Amino acid sequence: MNLLDPILNLFRSDTEDFYYVKIERNEKCYCNSGKKYKSCHYPQHHKSSKRAVRKINSLTGEETFKVLSIKRIRKDHELFKATVIQE
Ligand SMILES: [Zn+2]
Repeated sequence: MNLLDPILNLFRSDTEDFYYVKIERNEKCYCNSGKKYKSCHYPQHHKSSKRAVRKINSLTGEETFKVLSIKRIRKDHELFKATVIQE
């Protein structure tokens, strides 16, 4: 069930200056409910193959929260890997 998790931990887009950091299930949920992610939005995201991530601007350090589909994250990750190979 968590086969995708390693690729969600950290990656950078090749098209923008940001990277994603996965919100761990034991971390507080991004919605400020005060609950842990696993007992708040996680079950809903899990059902719809989505994950909450911190999107961090690598230049300014500015953080925003995003809910992205795993498919999208995977696609970005493939692009990132392709970029790294080319470098
Ligand atoms: Zn929540």
